Amino acid sequence: MLVYDQQLPTSAPRKITKAKVASELKRLNAALKATETEILQARQRVSQELGEDHARIFDAHRFILIDEMLTEQAREIIRDGWCAETAYAEACQRIVRSFQSLEGGGLPDRSGDLLDVERRVLAQLHGRKGGGFRNLTEPVVVVARDISPSDTATMNRKKVLGFITERGGETSHSVILGRSLGIPVVVGADGLLEHVQNGDQIMLDGHTGQLVLHPDDQAQVQFDRLREAYEELERQSLRYKDYPAETRDGRQIELLANIELPEEVPVAVEHGAAGVGLFRTEYLFLTQAEFPDEKAQTRAYTKVLKGLAPDPVIIRSMDLGGEKVTAAMGFPKEDNPSLGWRGIRYALGREDLFRTQLRAILRAGVHGNLRLMVPMVSQVEEIREVKRLLAEVSAELKAEGLPCVEQYQLGVMVETPSAVVIAHLLAKEVDFFSIGTNDLIQYSLAIDRDNRYVQHLYEPFHPAILRQIKRTVKAGKDGGCWVGICGELPEDPLFAILLIGLGLDEISVNPYRIPELKRIIRNITHDQAKNLVKSAWSYATATEIRRNVARLAIRKFPELEESLRGPGSAK
Ligand code: PEP
Ligand code: MG
Repeated sequence: MLVYDQQLPTSAPRKITKAKVASELKRLNAALKATETEILQARQRVSQELGEDHARIFDAHRFILIDEMLTEQAREIIRDGWCAETAYAEACQRIVRSFQSLEGGGLPDRSGDLLDVERRVLAQLHGRKGGGFRNLTEPVVVVARDISPSDTATMNRKKVLGFITERGGETSHSVILGRSLGIPVVVGADGLLEHVQNGDQIMLDGHTGQLVLHPDDQAQVQFDRLREAYEELERQSLRYKDYPAETRDGRQIELLANIELPEEVPVAVEHGAAGVGLFRTEYLFLTQAEFPDEKAQTRAYTKVLKGLAPDPVIIRSMDLGGEKVTAAMGFPKEDNPSLGWRGIRYALGREDLFRTQLRAILRAGVHGNLRLMVPMVSQVEEIREVKRLLAEVSAELKAEGLPCVEQYQLGVMVETPSAVVIAHLLAKEVDFFSIGTNDLIQYSLAIDRDNRYVQHLYEPFHPAILRQIKRTVKAGKDGGCWVGICGELPEDPLFAILLIGLGLDEISVNPYRIPELKRIIRNITHDQAKNLVKSAWSYATATEIRRNVARLAIRKFPELEESLRGPGSAK
């Protein structure tokens, strides 16, 4: 196990005598040098694994490290009679304070990069490596208070066997990304850091959230059995990966993959995805020190479109903001970021960046089957504004003689309650809807998706959620739009059956879940699914719906019992 504690290594401020100044200056220089090597190694590894664009985040860290103002400041403090640790920490503090005194409250995310560098240097001075889990050499389970989406995107995933965080919820973006990378994740392990240290043994079940610290032989045997059951279920499901996602009575469902990075395309293809239903493009921005330019973005989108062609790829325009903030954004601190400058609101507020992204998407669109989708829409004006910008950049590209796509579908994500209520009006503007249940639940039930204290209330089977999906499907179809869904919900087999009964045309999920969902879809009829939905309307609570619908589903589909209840449960 690796305990990744984001707290800075601390020690009480320590005075030194004049005679020690030279040796402390030497210690600082050695720590700076070792940190530079560490950063360059991390850069090289990320560049090889994820490509040059992602590796640039480490350039920003190196520039901070070698910044004269910072290092001279630290040396000055040592000459004033303080040890290297105290001096470096104080020098960093002074930089943060000078940022904060700038107009507009400073640049909190720049100071996040500084924190990363400070942690590395102090760790070196304390005699240990500070590279966190970006630079792992041994396979480990990472335990951390919290892991940011950009940490997750740049970690050495071949070495991470699993990760466990004290904070966060099931649909936090780091969790989604971790699972997309095939890494088991457990969140909300409150207080765990107090009880563990590096090298401890821990077992985790990413499906149920179960953890066993210091497992004994019996626990080991139980986990091994459970792992075999999961693997067996996966083997059985994988047999379905190349079949169409079609119900027994012939209803075709477009079953597509959610991806965060272009590198995930092969996983989507290997698991039988009929395209990409959600490409979360903001991860391109989150893993880099500067915003990727038009060329780099065109390259990334082209890679995904070509990788799936002729199957469709739904590229979602940048959904930055909320917890998805990056150093390059210079983002203001918001008291309520989920309700703040996020998704399309941020994109329209930063028209320069958004135009660049739209140009790159339209240019890449000539290489495949493009569908473009806009996140966090809450009013019709937003989608009209996007259409205006699209028309403008398309004319620009043509005037510049650059090839750009002519025919593509445009959609909105339905993930705010207002979008559900005005779905009939939005349908007049676009070709499709994709329901984002992660946020729709957050905003409809007023449950912060990252807050572990209210996770027990984050309830997909809530009668309000099912009714909102029903209403969106009807409004979309009445208005001539096809309707899909791309939150994490359809991964639950019972929920997936309800979605088919509710009339969804397309379902997009984590690629690893596709084979099992195909198995489920191919074992049911559309009418049976519709009947299950009918039964759900008579119940008043999520618990009643879940319990009774599951009971009915198991009666109707006994061969799916293990999927519906969990591995090892079928009698
Ligand atoms: C959603 O909100 O359901 C969704 C798919 O978007 P994200 O999880 O990226 O917010
Ligand atoms: Mg969302």
